[in-house]
Amino acid sequence: MGEQQLDHEVLIIGAGFGGIGAGIEFKRLGINNIAIIEREDDLGGTWHVNHYPGLAVDIASVTYSYSFEPNPHWSRLFAPGSELKAYAEHVADKYDLRRHMEFGIVVEGAEWNDEAGFWTVRFDNGQTRTSRYLVTATGFLSQPHIPDFPGLNDFQGDVLHTTKWEDGYDFTGKKAAVIGTGATAVQLIPEIAETADDLTVFQRTAIWVVPKVDFAIPSAVQKAFQKVPFTQKIARAVNTSMLEVLMVGGVLHYKQLKAGNKLAAEASKAYLKRAVKDPVTRRALTPTYDFGCKRPTFSNKYFQAFNKPNVKLETGGIGHFTPTGIVTGEGTEVEIDTLVLATGFNLWDVNFPAFTITGREGRDLGKWWREGRFQAYEGITVPQFPNFLTLNSPYSYSGLSYFTTIEGQMKHIGRLFGEMRRRGTDRFEVSEEANAKFLDKVTGDLDSSVFYAGDCSTSRSYYFNQHGEATLLRPSATLTTLREQGSFPLEDYQYA
Ligand code: NAP
Repeated sequence: MGEQQLDHEVLIIGAGFGGIGAGIEFKRLGINNIAIIEREDDLGGTWHVNHYPGLAVDIASVTYSYSFEPNPHWSRLFAPGSELKAYAEHVADKYDLRRHMEFGIVVEGAEWNDEAGFWTVRFDNGQTRTSRYLVTATGFLSQPHIPDFPGLNDFQGDVLHTTKWEDGYDFTGKKAAVIGTGATAVQLIPEIAETADDLTVFQRTAIWVVPKVDFAIPSAVQKAFQKVPFTQKIARAVNTSMLEVLMVGGVLHYKQLKAGNKLAAEASKAYLKRAVKDPVTRRALTPTYDFGCKRPTFSNKYFQAFNKPNVKLETGGIGHFTPTGIVTGEGTEVEIDTLVLATGFNLWDVNFPAFTITGREGRDLGKWWREGRFQAYEGITVPQFPNFLTLNSPYSYSGLSYFTTIEGQMKHIGRLFGEMRRRGTDRFEVSEEANAKFLDKVTGDLDSSVFYAGDCSTSRSYYFNQHGEATLLRPSATLTTLREQGSFPLEDYQYA
């Protein structure tokens, strides 16, 4: 098929910060025949989907943003979710990406045509599109998980999943239950506790929580960020370095720096002791696994909510639902009007990848990952999948801010496409050898991490896949990731 007959040069799936970053990079490379397909009705990814009360970033906003697109207007050190959504819109407009976006389309599958060298992508509306390059930017935490609780369908009260929040839902006078105590619940529980008559929090696994040093950014600082952008760069560098110490020291080099990790755990326990009055509740809120096995959370209100007379922590598990409530695993009946499912996301069964992707010689990416090992060269390309870039990949997530991952991947795309241009070719595929070498390196490096050298046995962390392997994080410092993504050996790819 000739170039002019393809629908698109690049098809990007997902209009969150990953898809937006990829779009910016392709435009920078002078590629403009791009379509960005999004299943939701607007851009912003997780920041469009999530709008539950209390939503805010938990990485300071000077870091949680594109380094090349600083926003001097963040209202707080940790901006509320609505500002992230507005920031996504601003960036999409500034880089003229909106006209490439098509909303409300679910991608059902993609197949590589090896002879002609293009992808055919099937949509749920019956359409198919062809493109030379396919980029999946479907996110890590984008397939909501609703557990199969016995009798859930019989429950007659209101049911809210945190990703499908009913704005303005009023908890006044309600008896509510929240299932889950992950980062989402940690933000949401204090908000519900303010108004609900009764709130029962169903915790299966306790989470490490540390205080959130948050404040409104004074207008003088906002002005300085605006007039002298270098000042914001410094703020970003300082904050990113602090996060690096936490991530690289506390999580990735656990084996060598165990004391730092234990210190973080002790600090969290001391905070819990100060914050929660009742010793039984306190004990139940204390994690039994190492700090960092699961993403720790930041809050000044979560622990404190359990001191309120209307809030109860329930650790008896979910037995079954009745039309009017929940019977715990220990047989206690909890009557409720409203159920909040803060039960997170399914990463490993339905999200890697988010739809069927078939490469060369019929290799099915999802099957290949699940039946073999989860892997992706530099967290972005896969052997036997020519002209395919997968942004939400095994071993791709670097640092604590997602923007490090995206910007590293943008560098990778820039280097790869620059080389293709130099060679006058339009086809790339990573070699099996380069991919295997990268897999060996990351898995070897992860041996020192808390995931393998620490005790994560009771954590039920989504960092681990169904085979018990921690295949989400790239075990490198932020700067190392950025350097490696901009300098990988070009001969790791076959061209044309
Ligand atoms: P999550 O961390 O996966 O938490 C889900 C919660 O639901 C866990 O407490 C889990 O318990 C519980 N759960 C799931 N299935 C259950 C079952 N069958 N029975 C009982 N409990 C069950 O999901 P999340 O809280 O939505 O957070 C996901 C990630 O999103 C975070 O780690 C973070 O990276 C990100 N996030 C970021 C922000 C932010 O930046 N502001 C805010 C929210 C979320 P178990 O632990 O026992 O499985």
